[in-house]
Amino acid sequence: MKIDILLNNLNYRYDIYQIFNIFYSLEEISFNHDKEDYEDYKVIIESDRVYISHNHMKKSYEDSENIGCKNFIKKAVFQFLTEETKEHFPWGTLVGIRPSKIALDLINKGLTAEEIISYFNRVYCTDRDKAQLCIDIAKYENSFVNNKENNISIYLGMPFCPTRCAYCSFASNPISACKPLVEPYLLALKKEIEFIRDYINERKLTVETVYFGGGTPTSVDDEQFKFIMKAIFDNLILNKNVKEFTVECGRPDSLSNSKLETLKKYNVTRISINPQTMNDSTLKGIGRKHSSKDIIDIFNKARELGFDNINMDLIVGLPGEGLDHVRHTCSEILKLSPESVTVHGMSIKRASDLHEKILLKQYYYKPNQKELNSMYNETRALAEKLNMIPYYMYRQKNMVGNMENVGYTIIGRECVYNIEMIEEKQTIIALGADAVTKVVFQKDNRIERFGNLKEVKQYIDKIDAMIEGKIKLLDSLYKDNN
Ligand code: SF4
Repeated sequence: MKIDILLNNLNYRYDIYQIFNIFYSLEEISFNHDKEDYEDYKVIIESDRVYISHNHMKKSYEDSENIGCKNFIKKAVFQFLTEETKEHFPWGTLVGIRPSKIALDLINKGLTAEEIISYFNRVYCTDRDKAQLCIDIAKYENSFVNNKENNISIYLGMPFCPTRCAYCSFASNPISACKPLVEPYLLALKKEIEFIRDYINERKLTVETVYFGGGTPTSVDDEQFKFIMKAIFDNLILNKNVKEFTVECGRPDSLSNSKLETLKKYNVTRISINPQTMNDSTLKGIGRKHSSKDIIDIFNKARELGFDNINMDLIVGLPGEGLDHVRHTCSEILKLSPESVTVHGMSIKRASDLHEKILLKQYYYKPNQKELNSMYNETRALAEKLNMIPYYMYRQKNMVGNMENVGYTIIGRECVYNIEMIEEKQTIIALGADAVTKVVFQKDNRIERFGNLKEVKQYIDKIDAMIEGKIKLLDSLYKDNN
């Protein structure tokens, strides 16, 4: 299906596109402003009114609440489409990545929780429970957010995975096709690690957290994994009082007893074992080469070795999954009882195989919004049963159902790196292919970025230029600070 919109003022084209995209996320949406005898949607904006029509439905909206021009136009389109499609999108018109920031601003202005909930509803048509989620997260995150420029976090990326998941849009390469690149990659990464160690020591920076993600860090073989973990530990962890060291173990098909022992040996405080779903047919369908039993076995093994802070990632809205699938996943996770659960909404990115298949009409994907809302509620109930609270949240473009990603944790087991990364108040030095360093200039309230090359081969070949570029950017803040 193609959505055509006649719009008399193209200045609001993007705002209106965003709202149509919530209801028709996988359709092509186009605009016209001069076609007569229009058959599809018409949106006519006049000083303080918006007129919308489609087929036999005609409505006019007035900005009686003074919520600002853009907010009003988005709200009018949202209300029209809600009435027409009978779909319920609980975030309303909010499409921003960090809605908890709005809640935090309002808290700082002295508004009560009820006033904030009412504001979210009046301006964005957001449901009470989503507004409350923003308030809870804003309050919790606020006690962790960094306020010292010299406190930093370090991110390291491994751009390989056992196989590529159907929905993946990251810089991840199936490891079997990249074997000759693995050793040179690890050597280049070690070189970056050593330069950054020297830089941190020289500038007297404090490393608060270290996060090793990807890709899948554990996708390399046991010896290669030992090599890179030793390099990280010796240079970035040892004698540095690092609060938290997280490694994404990701998929159980990448883990072994030896790798778990290596993680333990190098003082990893938090690991993530990510099933996404505990339904075997879905695991197969999304390109995973392991079963739900493998997840349970490796989780139990990690517990035996003494890991007491394990996160598990889940995805809501996976192709072919409905409420019963999510219920099954949640009941299996409940039995394992991890310390944190991160719930991701399905996001169909352009770089994914799934997106391509949908475009080529090789795959039909349109989950029912009501069921999607129930699936989210199921994951929230799981978190409550595990005595967890929501502690960080972010949203992405093209999320199915315009939903959210939420991290739940038992109090005291949260991932501080995740909070810092979302709140963007701390400099994060990022190492590895496609890793993006963010330097936060707290006094000027601005952020500068330096991205490493995405292609593994290019990263290896140009490692010196990347180290140089990164140090130059870091120096623009830290040279004069020390
Ligand atoms: S495990 Fe993650 S990074 Fe690797 S292919 Fe799957 S989605 Fe991509």
